[in-house]
Amino acid sequence: MNQNEDKCPKCGAALSPITETATGRKLQRCSQGSWNPQTHKNEGCDYVKWLEVEPQELDEKCPKCGAPLILQVTRFGKKMKKCSAGSWDKEAKKAIGCDYVEWVNGTSENLEEKCPKCGANLVLYTTANGKKMKKCSTSGWDREAKKATGCEYVLWLKAGQTESDNGEEFLPPEPEE
Ligand SMILES: [Zn+2]
Ligand SMILES: [Zn+2]
Ligand SMILES: [Zn+2]
Repeated sequence: MNQNEDKCPKCGAALSPITETATGRKLQRCSQGSWNPQTHKNEGCDYVKWLEVEPQELDEKCPKCGAPLILQVTRFGKKMKKCSAGSWDKEAKKAIGCDYVEWVNGTSENLEEKCPKCGANLVLYTTANGKKMKKCSTSGWDREAKKATGCEYVLWLKAGQTESDNGEEFLPPEPEE
């Protein structure tokens, strides 16, 4: 048993305070390690402790088995709905129980702001991995012609901390189903 969870299991140094990534995941780094945004490398101890993001039980039922669905956020901030009757067997590397999974795509919300190009309302669009952009409500995507329609105004929003600042995308991936 590890009595003190705030010590790095690799080098024994204290862990840094909890930080939150741009995609809403929480992590603690070893205080002996730091992310260098210039070299895109970890310096010092590379221990990172990911904190569980509590799965949220949804008011929706699994279309396969009728058990409640839960909302889970992966390490890279993608959201998925999955069946609470299913789980992942890490040793056998396979899903057990119900395997229903539904990836959640980006969401958009209407803004009170006007498009500087055409004066229509803007919408705030959040991609499935947590990036945000403002775009014109008249814009759309013509799937058949494979081209954008309407006004092409887009403004990407920079998150307070960008993902590359803490090197989130360079960390070893979680096993994905
Ligand atoms: Zn360490
Ligand atoms: Zn199910
Ligand atoms: Zn516009």
